[in-house]
Amino acid sequence: MNLDAFRAAIDGIEVEDRPNIVRLKSRDFFWYSPILKRQLDGFVGDLVVSPKDEDEVVRILAAAYANDVPVTVRGGGTGNYGQSMPLQGGVVLHTNKLVGITQLGEDTVTARAGTIIEHIEHHLREHGREIRLFPSTTASASIGGFIAGGSSGVGAIRWGGLRNPANIRRVRLVTMEETPRILDLTGEDIHKAAHAYGVNGVMTEIEIPVDPSSDWVDVMVTTPDFAGANDLAISLGENTAVLLRMLSSFAAPIPELFFQRFRPFVGTGRGVIAAMVRREDLPAFTAHLAQWPTAELVYRADQADPALRLPAVFEMAWNHTTLRAIKTDPGLTYLQMMFPRDAMAETIAALDTHFGDEIMLHFEFTRFSGVVSPVAMPIIRFSTEERLEALIAALERDFGITVFNPHRVTLEEGGMKRTDISQLEFKRQTDPKGLMNPGKMIAWTHPDWQPEAGKSFLFQE
Ligand SMILES: Cc1cc2nc3c(=O)[nH]c(=O)nc-3n(C[C@H](O)[C@H](O)[C@H](O)COP(=O)(O)OP(=O)(O)OC[C@H]3O[C@@H](n4cnc5c(N)ncnc54)[C@H](O)[C@@H]3O)c2cc1C
Repeated sequence: MNLDAFRAAIDGIEVEDRPNIVRLKSRDFFWYSPILKRQLDGFVGDLVVSPKDEDEVVRILAAAYANDVPVTVRGGGTGNYGQSMPLQGGVVLHTNKLVGITQLGEDTVTARAGTIIEHIEHHLREHGREIRLFPSTTASASIGGFIAGGSSGVGAIRWGGLRNPANIRRVRLVTMEETPRILDLTGEDIHKAAHAYGVNGVMTEIEIPVDPSSDWVDVMVTTPDFAGANDLAISLGENTAVLLRMLSSFAAPIPELFFQRFRPFVGTGRGVIAAMVRREDLPAFTAHLAQWPTAELVYRADQADPALRLPAVFEMAWNHTTLRAIKTDPGLTYLQMMFPRDAMAETIAALDTHFGDEIMLHFEFTRFSGVVSPVAMPIIRFSTEERLEALIAALERDFGITVFNPHRVTLEEGGMKRTDISQLEFKRQTDPKGLMNPGKMIAWTHPDWQPEAGKSFLFQE
């Protein structure tokens, strides 16, 4: 790597080399995992570059290629598997200047990759539109980082995950070659670069579908137990008279321990549902609840005291649950898993018997091929790395649960469970020197790595 020659070649482009800032921009939420925290804590880039447009991205990648400088892209830095951490030093390419909406059509929006997702949503709402799917980090995550590093989020109860072809229209990508190419990926080709942690190039622009906007009301419902909360949640998810944007459930003691500001609402020892309900469907929603005599509507954002300034319910859900749990007790961590819908109640009971409060369950209901399905993101009481590995093995072996291990830094060992051959082939074309986010695609560094048979992608239908 010849950093001096690289710097000379990108003269005029914003560069940051103060060690404390470079270290800060070399980190993400890897510390969610005690294993990744131990493994990755010392990794740091050499420089941060902030291109202001696609031409500057092209110049940076050409200079990096010529001088063998690794490049790791960073959006909001909210990834929680160490995706945006430079494992071989080099350059952190920060997309924070690559922002703005470039086109708003009837049913799509196009934004530069570094645009904060919440900014896109605000812009859309001014035009009577809304985004389809967003992570609970919408206030700080970039749209490029979500497509490159995320899986799903708010909207999943209607639209499934990011792998659903309905959720991304086009990805514009700059390749890491002697003369970088600019590719517009559509259709099936999108998945060569989506959820690839930026190992195939730098996304500069994203086109996603949009829908007419609705007025969503945050609600919380409690039930005597978690199994009941999930039965109710599935029936709500299947009620076509009630449009939902989010549907999440939490087992006690998650809400009472970690949702401090909602404590007066959630009670003690109860199962909790948090949902976003279309305002005009609230009568149908309350009529539905009336058929469940033990369920209680405990919170409606539109009827709460504004002086309380309570957060959005999506900031209790998805991986925000983990954040709240770790902030309360640093000895906690998490897992991600597909939960068997057909044996939901038995599996919940069996996990309770075997593991007690080592596993605290919460589900993000996601529509896969039209079926309302529980995706579990449990909080785990961490003791040792060996125990965590044994727990994952036991969940898969004895309980019919597919675990997507968030304690792994590579694409394959985490959410994918196998090498995506099209992503690997694509990398050979777009990054022949292997300089893009090195260390994140195991098939590149360890071609003999054997995938586990029969496992599928995280949040794939
Ligand atoms: C509290 C919390 C809650 C979360 N909730 C969710 C959730 O609901 N759903 C979900 O899917 N995830 C969730 N996540 C994970 C993460 O926030 C999201 O995936 C988020 O969208 C990542 O965006 P980012 O801009 O922060 O990406 P970064 O962390 O900066 O990057 C993520 C990955 O994408 C790559 N990348 C970034 N930009 C580009 C680009 N322009 N071109 C190529 N590669 C690029 C990076 O190299 C990295 O590999 C959560 C994380 C936290 C900490």
